[in-house]
Amino acid sequence: MPLAENQIRTEIVTAFREMTGRAAPKEINVTFYPFASLNHTIRIRRQRVYVRISDILRDAPVAIWRAVAHLLVAKLLKHPPPADLQALYREYSYQPEVIRAIDLVRRHRGRKLAGDPVGSVYNLEAIFRRLNRRYFAGSLAMPRLAWSARRSKRILGHQDDVHETIVISRSLDSEEVPEYVVEFVLYHEMLHLKHPRKIVGGRRIYHSAAFRADERRFLRYDEALAALDRLGGE
Ligand SMILES: [Zn+2]
Repeated sequence: MPLAENQIRTEIVTAFREMTGRAAPKEINVTFYPFASLNHTIRIRRQRVYVRISDILRDAPVAIWRAVAHLLVAKLLKHPPPADLQALYREYSYQPEVIRAIDLVRRHRGRKLAGDPVGSVYNLEAIFRRLNRRYFAGSLAMPRLAWSARRSKRILGHQDDVHETIVISRSLDSEEVPEYVVEFVLYHEMLHLKHPRKIVGGRRIYHSAAFRADERRFLRYDEALAALDRLGGE
């Protein structure tokens, strides 16, 4: 079994011992699985335990593997989940990078979106061209631009390296949303084109200091952030 799977297996064994005071079943099979979300499953059949961990966690810190292993065993044994590990896992799953990864796999493995750049109020291609001239000296190649199928209020924008697509939440394609807010969300995603993610010390950095400095160059930065806060608070 490869390293990550082996590490999780070790944690499963520990969790069994801690929760039951007895040894774990001998056969424990751990695999990463391409679920369409941050799902994990555990089942037991003929004294064999089968664990499937969302492949979103393949690069997660060891502490998160440990938390998931213990939470899964608790679920299997119908024990209350250890509160500290549950909190740790929850906090991790709410990190922007993780939400982003979940969104990415949803898009890839869920239903494919047809997506149209022309919304009922705003045309993303026209806004892209304007922002490209104003902030990037026209240097960015236009990716595929699309309004999302769903009106997500949690994930407002998303840039997908693999498919060279920027998807903006349809919740923003509304007369109640000022144009500079749509601009700002698209501008953020365009900055991802300019600043590709970096790996530093084994961690993926999506929003570097240079990215954030560029982001603050947006003319109505403070207003846009305040408006997004209000939208998110609905
Ligand atoms: Zn971002």
